[in-house]
Amino acid sequence: DCILEGPVDETTIRVAVRKRPLSATERSNKDTDIIEIQHPRNVVIHEPKKQLDLTPVTESHYFAFDHTFGAEVPNDRVYHTVCLPLVVSMFRGGKSTCFAYGQTGSGKTFAMMGDQGRERAGGGKGRKGHPTGEGWENAGLYALAARDIFQVLAHPAFASRGWTLHVSFFEIYGGKLFDLLNRRAPVRCLEDARQHVRFLGLTEKAVVSVEELLTTMAEGQSQRSTGSTAANADSSRSHAVLQLSLKGHACAERSAGRSPVTSGPEAKSMLQHGKRNVRVKDSNQGRLKEPVIGSFSFIDLAGSERGADTRNTEKATRMEGAEINTSLLALKEVIRALDRKQNHTPFRGSKLTQVLKDSLVGARAKTAMLACIAPALSSCEHTLNTLRYADRVK
Ligand code: ADP
Ligand code: MG
Repeated sequence: DCILEGPVDETTIRVAVRKRPLSATERSNKDTDIIEIQHPRNVVIHEPKKQLDLTPVTESHYFAFDHTFGAEVPNDRVYHTVCLPLVVSMFRGGKSTCFAYGQTGSGKTFAMMGDQGRERAGGGKGRKGHPTGEGWENAGLYALAARDIFQVLAHPAFASRGWTLHVSFFEIYGGKLFDLLNRRAPVRCLEDARQHVRFLGLTEKAVVSVEELLTTMAEGQSQRSTGSTAANADSSRSHAVLQLSLKGHACAERSAGRSPVTSGPEAKSMLQHGKRNVRVKDSNQGRLKEPVIGSFSFIDLAGSERGADTRNTEKATRMEGAEINTSLLALKEVIRALDRKQNHTPFRGSKLTQVLKDSLVGARAKTAMLACIAPALSSCEHTLNTLRYADRVK
């Protein structure tokens, strides 16, 4: 049975909350679980407090969202509720975006990249195999989406159309873009004359199977933590953007296989044309003739607590914190503006929102925000901040 045969879901923005289990460290520290998930929509934080006379009381904070998931819920169930409608939309010409928001250690990467993706990114002892069979339960949301996408593409009704899936993966760190599929090479993001977002020097790889995508992503993911050259980006300080695009059959001959233009006269001439009049004349030219049917962006956001790092004594860390704070606030404002169908959407507020502009605007754009929370008492303040942020988005 094909995923496209289900009912069409018109929801444009959905906000979900997911709690992770208590970690071994938290358990050994006798940290307690203060989060109650009331399936399917509610979350309650039971915050222990002391009254003036020191008698203990519990203050409960109540929140409601589109979906809430407890610590026992695996990625594939989150996927089914939050992402599958966005995959279906993609086949109908939609642009879908899923954000993972939350403090460092709350489960963003676990959701986006899966349990195996994380192990491999850590290098060394990780499992070598790909998530097949039972291992799919906690595969990354992007991998679960790709599995469904390839299943549709292989369906008799689609196989003859010659549609293909392409992936790009980059990091936004300190307001700059780095290509995770090309050794963190710098990427320029500009607006063309028609105000469409264009990426100069970004690798876009055609993938023919989930396995190929997983391998590609594992390599890219390893660039995140180990690619610490000039920009010493530990992954909690950057936003990682994975874009899957579904493309139609090429009208002219394809130029796949050529590497992106990052230097040389071609790149120079593109840059000289500046913001207003960029001629998209790079190696993507051939590929651009393959019309984009739909896209799905998965964004593993920087740790939300980093935005509060603005009082750090180290200047670099302080600046980073300010940058992250600005981008997360800008993202919230943009999503709110989109939801209210305001005429003016403040995309220019940050690099993150500029980069995502094309994915977030328009009648066919759909967005999901997965707010990840840790269950422990020691994370109470951050968890409250995350839920307040998510609450404001809806
Ligand atoms: P973040 O990316 O938000 O910093 P991670 O995804 O790296 O956080 O998660 C922190 C730790 O918690 C990791 O060891 C991860 O495997 C574990 N974890 C996160 N979410 C879950 C979950 N839903 N179930 C089991 N373990 C989880
Ligand atoms: Mg992470």
